[in-house]
Amino acid sequence: MNKSEAYKWAWDHNVTVGADPDDSSKNMAIVDDWDTLEDPEFEVVMLALDVDPQNFGFSDEYSTCGQCGEIIKTSPDSWGWQPDFWLGDGDIVCHKCLEYCLDMYVDWILERQRESGKPIGCILDREQLETEKFVLKISDLENGLHLHQTDDPGAILRYCNTHSIDCIFRVFPSQFSQVFDVYMRANTGDQYFQLTQDELDTINGDLFETDSSGRESLKQEYSNLRTGEACKRMLENISKGDY
Ligand SMILES: [Zn+2]
Repeated sequence: MNKSEAYKWAWDHNVTVGADPDDSSKNMAIVDDWDTLEDPEFEVVMLALDVDPQNFGFSDEYSTCGQCGEIIKTSPDSWGWQPDFWLGDGDIVCHKCLEYCLDMYVDWILERQRESGKPIGCILDREQLETEKFVLKISDLENGLHLHQTDDPGAILRYCNTHSIDCIFRVFPSQFSQVFDVYMRANTGDQYFQLTQDELDTINGDLFETDSSGRESLKQEYSNLRTGEACKRMLENISKGDY
């Protein structure tokens, strides 16, 4: 079977072939159901298209980029999984293609954060955010199930929304908590700017306090103390044998 026959067979059977999003050095196939895999021609077609017939996925767990057609994994497979794409208003865009619409993606996040009051994780890296005039303001904050993990991204967002600051969160999930970085830029309503050192110093004073050992941490009003209190109560109950 030659390549064009193989592509025709794949098209007729609704099979998508492309780079594996988990390992771009390999190709993979996306199929609708087991019947396609059991078709006697499937293996021959895959080999003609340089795909290992064992490297397949199902179409309810994958999609393709609306811009470049690359395969995108849309289904979580572990606690550390994060979407590596932007599902905007009707179109799905892979991480690579976001490079061409950074400003639209950032605006989309900011608008939704303003509407909902809830932080939304952003998949751009530091360099891309700096292109959009953001500076990394705070890194390695923690929100989770342990006592000290009380940094509250929602409170930081509320602060930014009332101080003409655009705020972007990069989130790094782990099993029982999330570490997050906060990026900020000034926004006058119709224009945005990189924050000046004076403005950054003011934000520092508003958000942080220094404890007796000289360690800087987020002020209590930007911490979700309920999480801490809930953990404390649970630990007390455990020590009393109530669990
Ligand atoms: Zn793409």
